[in-house]
Amino acid sequence: METQYFQVDRHKPDKEILTQAARILVSGGLVAFPTETVYGLGANGLEPQAVAGIFRAKGRPSDNPLILHIAEASEVLQLVRTIPANARALMERYWPGPLTLVLERKPIVPDQVTGGLDTVAVRLPDSVIARELIRLTGLPIAAPSANLSGRPSPTTAEAVAADLSGRIEAIVDGGPCDVGVESTIIDCTTPVPTLLRPGGITLEMLMDTLGEVEIDPALSRDDLIPKAPGMKYRHYAPSAPMVLLEGEEVNVAAALIEKVRQAVLEGKRVGAVVSAETAALLPTEIQFAVYGHRRNAGEIANHLYNVLLSFDHNPVDVIYAEGISESGLGLAVMNRLRKAAGYKILQV
Ligand code: AMP
Ligand code: MG
Repeated sequence: METQYFQVDRHKPDKEILTQAARILVSGGLVAFPTETVYGLGANGLEPQAVAGIFRAKGRPSDNPLILHIAEASEVLQLVRTIPANARALMERYWPGPLTLVLERKPIVPDQVTGGLDTVAVRLPDSVIARELIRLTGLPIAAPSANLSGRPSPTTAEAVAADLSGRIEAIVDGGPCDVGVESTIIDCTTPVPTLLRPGGITLEMLMDTLGEVEIDPALSRDDLIPKAPGMKYRHYAPSAPMVLLEGEEVNVAAALIEKVRQAVLEGKRVGAVVSAETAALLPTEIQFAVYGHRRNAGEIANHLYNVLLSFDHNPVDVIYAEGISESGLGLAVMNRLRKAAGYKILQV
């Protein structure tokens, strides 16, 4: 299949072009498009055949449910049975934005979307392109990240093309995404809402609205089954084995430099995923990728997947990654780094 490319301005997308992309979606095709978090691979979320195409194109396991994206908050009513007060409060405060709510589904939502669960995940994105495209289809759009299953989520149209060119009908290129990590997922069907995936809306922001939030214990351990089925898979992994160093800032930097030195002495090709501060102290012969400044988790989230992808072009034997504080967006960053490392974590 030949993939069509559409180029649009992220703030003022050309309506004619988005209409062409919307037509493809309405007729059952797959279109990748930017959101504020990462690029999504869209399909008609009410049409089982179209949704099945997403799983085929990505090689995604069928038990990994999809998020339905809508263009107006009111459209959630057609998809869910009830909206509890706490979910309503979150929608009012953080929609449109990088927050996905899990709610009880209505029968109109196909099993292919929910992986057979009796809940559905819904999000109203903030990206103008995403909202306008969805609005033009008049449909809820199922859209997981637009990567091959197991690869990092794409934050540029080039990264989408590298994975999915020839496998999908079209790619809408709206430039790089703002947030860089996926949406926060919160289950609002439990008495106290439960955080299933940390993301663009931070735990602190959720607490501020809700007062209390449960955290899925599987988020920090790999011996429990996560409540968001997709979180059990080893996403975001570079091809070389990666070890994540966690602990106090100064200890982490010192231990990382030591580990790197040692591996170089053993004759290994070494990679490092580090802050700008630590990069300045590394030996020159190693392949390092800088994710940003240590205390700026937003900057790090934004660069994270490109940094992980950079090792595809520079093969190494082992990668050491520098952990950061879990406050704010740091929780989402550390969750992705732990998964990328396959939970090979060194506490220092
Ligand atoms: P992606 O859009 O690629 O980030 O994947 C969607 C994520 O949402 C996966 O981790 C899914 O497991 C999760 N998800 C989708 N629907 C539900 C649901 N009904 N309950 C819990 N998690 C869900
Ligand atoms: Mg994904």
